[in-house]
Amino acid sequence: MSQDIQIELLGIEKHYGAFHALKNVNLSIPKGTFVALVGPSGCGKSTLLRSLAGLEKITGGTLKIAGEVMNDVPPRSRNIAMVFQSYALYPHMTVEQNLTYSLKMHGVPKAEAKQKAEEVAVITGLSRLLDRYPRQLSGGQRQRVAMGRAIIRNPQAFLFDEPLSNLDAALRVSMRKEIRALHDRLGATSVYVTHDQIEAMTMADHVVVMRDGVIEQQGAPLDLYDRPANRFVAGFIGSPAMNFIPAIAAEDGKSLILDFGAMKQTLAITRAIEPGRKLIAGIRPEHIGVVEPGHGSFDVPIAFVESTGSSTFIVAATQPELTIVETRRDRVKAGDMIGLSVDPGQIHLFDASTDRLV
Ligand code: ATP
Repeated sequence: MSQDIQIELLGIEKHYGAFHALKNVNLSIPKGTFVALVGPSGCGKSTLLRSLAGLEKITGGTLKIAGEVMNDVPPRSRNIAMVFQSYALYPHMTVEQNLTYSLKMHGVPKAEAKQKAEEVAVITGLSRLLDRYPRQLSGGQRQRVAMGRAIIRNPQAFLFDEPLSNLDAALRVSMRKEIRALHDRLGATSVYVTHDQIEAMTMADHVVVMRDGVIEQQGAPLDLYDRPANRFVAGFIGSPAMNFIPAIAAEDGKSLILDFGAMKQTLAITRAIEPGRKLIAGIRPEHIGVVEPGHGSFDVPIAFVESTGSSTFIVAATQPELTIVETRRDRVKAGDMIGLSVDPGQIHLFDASTDRLV
């Protein structure tokens, strides 16, 4: 095994009684990497994280940390730190006592623990708050204490279980940056569970997308965005979500017939597909251009338009609906006809029966 692989999962299985929660999970995490585990509720991401920590016992496969098999090693001997949501702090202890608690449990002398707490407080920006109690801290400060508690033990890896989910939107965005900066400063190896794909995309070097206990795809964030391996990943990564339109490869082999129910439209593609093949065309909302009617690939009526200020979402009254995102405003309104221009190079094709990329 290469020296720089910090965490290695080989064919991991987890059964809860008859329920199969993790199915043949394989993942290698190089030292210093920030990995995000994402997927819908119940996909098994927390089970995977808890298995890494030793809080769940895996029922098959091999789990290695720093080259050592950890399958039967108890949590406290794995030298891994788990960071929970900020409410996991001890309310009756000061920041300093919260930071040093685990050192005390491990028999570290008081003076040494105090010095370590001061060092960690510098790294996490808590130096002036060491005497406060959790109730006297903001949500972000509490989150930093939760991080500090993990850092102080100098672990082999950090495991985060949705640490930001009870913070408000603005604080989440700033804590994302803080956690990532801290990871970089410490040269840490981190595994971060979230159901928020934006969090995963913005924080991680490597994103693992899970569904029903299976890794559907893993890779660099933009690789998943640009080259989703199947319809599930394509729909999960990206906001607003990719448009999916049933289609059939046309007789000429160089175009698609898009099926909008009563309306059929022809769309050019960049490569030959066996005529008659049933497909799903995936087009991201930002890859559709709005043009004058008659000047694009096809025309559609608008159902409604929404603007966030920076972006305008145009929803076409088609079946299935199409969403288009623009940065321009006030150009069009509900009821207008518009032309849509689609770059053939930006169309993702999935097999209609397997949902896999064609
Ligand atoms: P969420 O985002 O909702 O936390 P998750 O992806 O983290 O979801 P897990 O908590 O890992 O999902 O759960 C995966 C599956 O395993 C779920 O279907 C869950 O019901 C099941 N599960 C989890 N813990 C147990 C348990 N102790 N006994 C039986 N089934 C369990």
